[in-house]
Amino acid sequence: MANREFKAESKRLLDLMVNSIYTNKEIFLRELISNASDAIDKLYFRSLTDKNVKVNREDLKIEVDVNKENRTITVTDNGCGMNENELDQNLGTIAKSGSLRFKEENEKKDDIDIIGQFGVGFYSAFMVADKVTVESKTLDEKQGYKWESTGVEGYTIEPCEKNDVGTKVILHIKEKTDEENYDEFLDNYKIEEIIKKYSNYIRYPIQMDIEKRRKKEGTEEYESYYETETINSMTPLWKKDKKDITEDEYNNFYKEKFYDTENPLKTIHSSVEGQYKYTSLLYIPKNLPWDFYNKDFEKGLQLYSNGVLIMEKCGDLLPDYFSFVRGLVDSDDLSLNISREMLQHDRQLKVIAKNIENKIKSELENLLKNDRENYEKFFENFGVQLKFGAYNNFGMDKDKLKDLLLFYSSTEKKMVTFKEYVSRVKEGQNSIYYASGESIDKIDMLPQVESFKDKGIEILYLTDNIDEFTLQIIMEYDGKKFVNVSTENSELESEDEKKVIEKVNEDNKELLSFMKEALNSEVQSVRFTHKLKNHPVCLTNEGFISVGMEKTLNAMQNNQNAKAQMVLEINDNHDIAKKIRFLFETDKEELKKYSKILYSQARLIEGLEIENPTEISNLVCEYLSK
Ligand code: ADP
Repeated sequence: MANREFKAESKRLLDLMVNSIYTNKEIFLRELISNASDAIDKLYFRSLTDKNVKVNREDLKIEVDVNKENRTITVTDNGCGMNENELDQNLGTIAKSGSLRFKEENEKKDDIDIIGQFGVGFYSAFMVADKVTVESKTLDEKQGYKWESTGVEGYTIEPCEKNDVGTKVILHIKEKTDEENYDEFLDNYKIEEIIKKYSNYIRYPIQMDIEKRRKKEGTEEYESYYETETINSMTPLWKKDKKDITEDEYNNFYKEKFYDTENPLKTIHSSVEGQYKYTSLLYIPKNLPWDFYNKDFEKGLQLYSNGVLIMEKCGDLLPDYFSFVRGLVDSDDLSLNISREMLQHDRQLKVIAKNIENKIKSELENLLKNDRENYEKFFENFGVQLKFGAYNNFGMDKDKLKDLLLFYSSTEKKMVTFKEYVSRVKEGQNSIYYASGESIDKIDMLPQVESFKDKGIEILYLTDNIDEFTLQIIMEYDGKKFVNVSTENSELESEDEKKVIEKVNEDNKELLSFMKEALNSEVQSVRFTHKLKNHPVCLTNEGFISVGMEKTLNAMQNNQNAKAQMVLEINDNHDIAKKIRFLFETDKEELKKYSKILYSQARLIEGLEIENPTEISNLVCEYLSK
């Protein structure tokens, strides 16, 4: 019997388990029971879809046996079992759980965190056992096989006697040490408690022989005897009546099933009668799932057909903008045999998906209405998702989502909805104003924001890259157009005021085009303005692409080389305006330098890079030394 070696990554994970200082070692049982339950699922599933396989639903079960003298815990299932090759593949290479990959991406994180958050499957047995034996037999082979390992050194596989189809996992529990009392895992009551805690909703009975005491017949003496008991409650949580479920139960179920350490923000449990019958249990998480922004993050809900899992992640049940929702759907009417491709065209599934989308939407609206604080927390995490949702597909879903969006308000100093903005708008204001930048503070300091603030006009501050694109696609709310404070706008100045500044610009046409040329035509135009109060210059834009959008577009992978048509605006009431006019008459070379400095300043204020920092720095020093 040759000794086989573990694959490299399995070895590392195993090593982690053997030497684990993780305090919550009891989860090993949850992992083994969950594997057993999966294996039974597989066999049962096969029996439902293959007439040649006969299985009695009532016979399916998981047995847990504790033997104090031999120091063993045995978990037995009558599931699908594994043949020689499967034992080798499945237990020799562990990659699926994703925990190792996660670990590599988060090297700084503690091993402990990983064990706790993700579970580590079969190998967790090595946290409590110094030897693990697995005996298994499949339906398709007469011969059973025994896998055995004492840890990282490797494992053996040999044929063995086994009559029943299924798997038996035998753990040889470690000896007690100063740090860890492994003996407690040999206590029946402890094991019973662990099963109730973690595996209560496993759909198959988990049975144990429980010690009972009774009076010996005809005497006052007691004797003990054993009785087989089912430890778990079995009914899946979602199949129970809502009023019989406590918040704790909902939360624990969520945390165990979806690997979150925190309670969900919101639980949505509904049973729908009608054309299609189904139950859904949905959760809105408090935090971003750890892999949410990974390339291979998969959205979706678990799909059950009358309690039997048929798909782990059914993506068609969730629109992209609600991809953060976790949960499950259980419908009696679904065929077990249904494939991913067929599901896409399934009418029933489409109807369920539509209902679920509406449900999530209305729950979010309720949250926004009745629990603003938590909605804002939610939005901080998942708002970007909603904003993308409104923007994507040319704004196909914008009307569904626009009332769920929040943006920071300059006057309210907090997050507000479009509806709230519009409800406050003064007579005659036909636009919803916004400004974009890296942060609230930076936007607040933008020169072009100043005059709006002065007039008490509310501005939405946009700090996410997607924001401005989203507003552009939504276009208007309640008849009010979205307008960037950096674009030419007609409302801030009266017709008379506009005429005045137009005349100023007309009178200085030559000066302004001289400056534009001095800037190598990097800007669309140079203009005087009366909109700025204290600031000397600002950068605005003409046309569709704003300065902020240019930044975003050019940071994208397939750089589209988008250019905003920038306008350098100079405060006509500032001393600098006088100086410029003077230089135009007296010293054009000097005016060129001034133009460069002013333009660089305007770019820096916008958070844009300058192409010639050395030149500008030298120019500034030239004036400082005068
Ligand atoms: P995971 O359950 O995340 O796939 P595990 O390490 O727990 O990872 O198990 C690895 C694989 O071994 C499982 O995917 C399954 O194919 C197989 N396996 C484990 N336990 C059993 C069992 N009791 N019966 C049949 N197959 C099993």
